[in-house]
Amino acid sequence: MISGRCAACKNQRRKCPSDCIFSPYFPSNDPQRYAAVHKIYGGSNIGKMLQQIPPYVRAQAAESLYYEAQSRIQDPIYGCYGIISQLLQQIHIAETELVKIQAQINIFKPQNPQVGYQSNFDVSMRQFQFAGHSSHTP
Ligand SMILES: [Zn+2]
Repeated sequence: MISGRCAACKNQRRKCPSDCIFSPYFPSNDPQRYAAVHKIYGGSNIGKMLQQIPPYVRAQAAESLYYEAQSRIQDPIYGCYGIISQLLQQIHIAETELVKIQAQINIFKPQNPQVGYQSNFDVSMRQFQFAGHSSHTP
């Protein structure tokens, strides 16, 4: 890998310099990786993007650009937004199901605090009714 040109330099038919910005992230043994980002962003734009960011995030940026390019090639209209919206829909379905299950659990769960509250309420209502009846009774 060190002796050969990186995928970007191979694609551009140029000599791969020792400080090539592409070579750590686009190795020659994976030409499809560079081909994907080149097709979507253009090779020089990828080089500029990688130059502008700190070296410690370049590998992750290259991985993200590759993933986004792959998504755009597979789904030219939505790209990775298609995947994001599918996942959001799955989350929404799961949240809705969770709310339904929580409601079912609440139906079958004994509710001690509410029973205590209701018994107090009933007692006060009985007292009120009793007081009302007692006023009518002699
Ligand atoms: Zn190179």
